[in-house]
This record gives sequence, structure tokens and C-alpha cells, in this order.
Amino acid sequence: MHHHTDLQHFRQRGTLYLSAPDAAELVRRHGLNRCLAAIAANIRDDFRRWTDFDKTARVASHSRDGVIELMPVADAQRYSFKYVNGHPGNTRFGLSTVMAFGVLADVDTGAPLFLSELTLTTALRTAAMSALAAQTLARPGSRVMALIGNGAQSEFQALAFQHLVGITALRLFDVDPAATAKLVANLAGSGLRLTVCQSTAEAVTGADVVTTVTADKAMALILTPEMIEPGMHLNAVGGDCPGKTELHGDILDAAAVFVEYEPQSRIEGEIQHQPADFGVTELWQVLRGERAGRTAADQVTVFDSVGFALEDFSALRFMFDTATALGLGERISLIPQLDDPKNLYGMLAAPGASAFEARNRRLAA
Ligand code: NAD
Repeated sequence: MHHHTDLQHFRQRGTLYLSAPDAAELVRRHGLNRCLAAIAANIRDDFRRWTDFDKTARVASHSRDGVIELMPVADAQRYSFKYVNGHPGNTRFGLSTVMAFGVLADVDTGAPLFLSELTLTTALRTAAMSALAAQTLARPGSRVMALIGNGAQSEFQALAFQHLVGITALRLFDVDPAATAKLVANLAGSGLRLTVCQSTAEAVTGADVVTTVTADKAMALILTPEMIEPGMHLNAVGGDCPGKTELHGDILDAAAVFVEYEPQSRIEGEIQHQPADFGVTELWQVLRGERAGRTAADQVTVFDSVGFALEDFSALRFMFDTATALGLGERISLIPQLDDPKNLYGMLAAPGASAFEARNRRLAA
């Protein structure tokens, strides 16, 4: 990160804005697999300096059909937040279940350097995070993954596990056959061997890794104890809110459970139904080598993913750096650019042009 230059660009040209189409263009140009690998590397670096960050559980506003959340985090240089919703019924109205955007800002001045879409980016960072967790928790040599829930997140999970974990075969199930058909079509040419299954139990049979990424505002029991085989790694992504879980509690009791940020996971994760003294390990401790990951080949490991603000910080860093390097996005006047910062009122007196545009014209003259 080039802190000084970033601030200079902000002062000269405003906030860098990356729209959803521009983010998609960034991923196409840089390559999806390289994006996933780079975001995973950023997450690993940031998780390894966990204690540098000012952390808080996200602030959630619950309503009948979903939730809207704000996710802030900061180190001494950079602050970020994400706005994200979760509305499992949205797809019926032609809207995404998860929609997000966010900001990366300069801590010294509070200047918002980067405003970005984070819907596509959330899918990338969630998949990168899951793959990073599986690298340390799944049995070495894991090749077969069951993928339960074949919606918006599923392709990203599939490709991150293929490229970062070594998964070669997927066993698919969704209650909506059209979702599975879409996933199969999108993964044609990926080189992954795909098996469409008729139930979760069938999909899970013989899998090394089980990813659950379903959306339902309910205490669902996607996975029940009789489905679990010794040595499996469970990547539980879909349960991420109070009253919204995917695993039977007995599975957690018999497994080694890993979380992102324990105070938030106690509220939102699969472990929300477990007693307060239920033992979990925060993943950063494993990534720093301070705590063990998997300790036996027949152990069942669970990554109880809910999504933590630091992952978005890591992803925003990547999108900002890459957009800057590729010249993508546009500079916008999110904040007034004033000749005299004390004369905010003065910007009302320049009709037809923003003070920012006027200032640029003067600079160009
Ligand atoms: P989506 O609505 O696009 O897809 C969800 C899919 O789950 C749908 O196709 C639906 O038919 C299927 N489904 C629902 N109930 C099912 C069941 N009982 N068995 C099998 N399939 C079932 O949503 P999405 O964007 O893919 O997100 C999926 C879930 O992941 C959401 O709950 C979301 O909140 C969560 N999520 C978590 C994180 C994280 O960091 N942990 C990040 C993003 C999304």
C-alpha cells in the first residue's frame, strides 16, 4: 500500500469508485483464480497481524425477512466498512440474497479513498476465506467436495476449492434444481468432475469436504449426525445470523470447531446454540501457528463461517490496489473539494459545476 500516494490522488482527483460492472471487468482482466489467490493471501497476511486491528462484532438490524449489517474494522493506517444485507426471499423478487458495498478510508485524515461494490467481492472473499480455512483444516489430499446450496456464492466456493485446496470433484445438491443446473452450466470447462445428487445425504456420501451455503431464515438442519464421516471437513457458510443455522448441534459437539472472530460467531454462527463455554479456536491463531488445526486424520473439523469485517478489509485492499494498477473505476466527488475547507457554504455559490470540477478546470488552465 502506498499511503502517501493514495491520499495525494484523493486530494487531486477525489474518491476512486468501482462499480459492479467495473469490478467484474477487474476480475475478468486479472483472472478469477488469481483474484481468489490474491485475496486469500491478503486475508492470511491480515489475520496473521490480528492484534493490529480494532475489531468489533458487526452491527445487525434484523427485520421480518432479513438483516442489514454494518461491518467496520481498522488498523493504524486504514479503516473499512461494509454495508451488507441478507434476505433469503429476495431472489423471488429478482433481487440478490446478499448485496453489499463498502469503503476503504485513510485513518490519519478520515478521507474515503475508495468506494466499491462488494457483492461480487463478498463472494470472492467468502470463497477465499473458506479455502484458506480448508488449507489448514481439511485432510491433506482432499479431492471430493459436496456443495449443498447452489446459489450465488456456489461457483466461487467451487473454484476457490479447486484452485487453492486441490478439489477435483463436486457432488451437488440444491432444493431448487434450476440453481444446480445454473451451477453445472457455469462450471462447464472448469475441469471439475460434477455429480448432481437428489439429496444432501447422497451428495455428502464419500466427500472429503462438505460446503453448506444455503439460504433460509431458519434453524435448518442441512447436515445431521448420521451424514458425517470420520475425517470430513465441514465448511459451514450459510448460517450467519441469529436463528439461521445449518448444522445439527451434535455435529459440533463431536468436532473441532474453528471460527473467525469469536464474539461475533457466538451471536451469529453455528455455535449460537452451544453453551457459552463450548470450546472453539479462532482461525488467526492457527494461521499464526499458535494453535493446532486438524490434529488427526479421522477428526471432523468445522469452519463455522459467518463473514468477518477483516476479510472485507483484505478484499477491499486487493480491489483498490488492482483497480489502481489496471486503471479501472472512476474518480468521483463524494466529498467536496474546497479551496478553503472552512468555506463549505461557498460551494453553494458555483451553479452548474461542482466545486471539484471548477477546481480541476482551474488546475488545468
Ligand atoms: P442464494 O439465495 O443465491 O442461494 C442459496 C441457495 O440455497 C438457493 O439456491 C436455495 O434454493 C438453496 N437452499 C435453500 N435451502 C436449502 C436446503 N434446505 N437444501 C439445499 N439447498 C437449499 O444465496 P447466496 O448468496 O448463495 O448465499 C447463501 C448463504 O450464504 C446465505 O445464507 C448467505 O447469507 C450466506 N453467506 C455467508 C457468507 C459468509 O461469510 N459466511 C458470505 C456470503 C453469504
